[in-house]
Amino acid sequence: QVSPVITIDGPSGAGKGTLSALLAKSLGWNFLDSGAIYRVLAIAAIHHQIEPDDEDALLPLASSLDVSFITSEKGSKIILEGEDVTYEIRTEEVGSIASKVASLPRIREALLRRQRAFREEPGLVADGRDMGTVVFPNAEAKIFLTASADERAQRRYNQLKDKGHDVNIARLLSDIKARDERDANRSVAPLVPADDALVLDSTHLNVEQVLEKVKEFVGSKL
Ligand code: C5P
Repeated sequence: QVSPVITIDGPSGAGKGTLSALLAKSLGWNFLDSGAIYRVLAIAAIHHQIEPDDEDALLPLASSLDVSFITSEKGSKIILEGEDVTYEIRTEEVGSIASKVASLPRIREALLRRQRAFREEPGLVADGRDMGTVVFPNAEAKIFLTASADERAQRRYNQLKDKGHDVNIARLLSDIKARDERDANRSVAPLVPADDALVLDSTHLNVEQVLEKVKEFVGSKL
């Protein structure tokens, strides 16, 4: 008997990260931030001076990616080749390179096993783009969380502003749209809801409201 999985997919900035972390915590389950894996690979590519479209050169890097996700009471840390990259992976630039490496079929294939290894007792909440369609097609409950591009740009803007970053909202919006376009139109694992996913639009909902709806749905599935 394998452990149960709840998948949470959707475009960037829809609130998946917050929702997944809260849900995993409330259930006492493990948590997979699959985007972080693509982001770590993007950093590794930069460090090794590999172009994000050079699939042949990226493949060995993806297959043997030396990364650990360390969770403690103090929070979680991501270590790549001995170096703490927890903060470095969160920039817009790294996100954009991640979405380029993520469009390469053999790279996605090479990262499948690593993602599936997160499925451990007592269960897993998996956050990403293709968790319910490709990585865990037999998940117990699938959620597809969306929000309008404007709302997502606004949320991202507020987040960055809170951290003291100087940001331009028009630029954020165009980056978000470019990334959506690339994620939705790639040939492998494009960003689409699984047939059996609950599609939830969070444009006019706050975090508590989203969590409440999701818990109700998950409760009916487990
Ligand atoms: O979710 P996050 O913004 O951290 O993901 C970074 C990029 O990685 C996304 O824009 C997407 O292109 C890619 N990604 C993916 N499949 C996933 C998770 C992320 O293609 N399961």
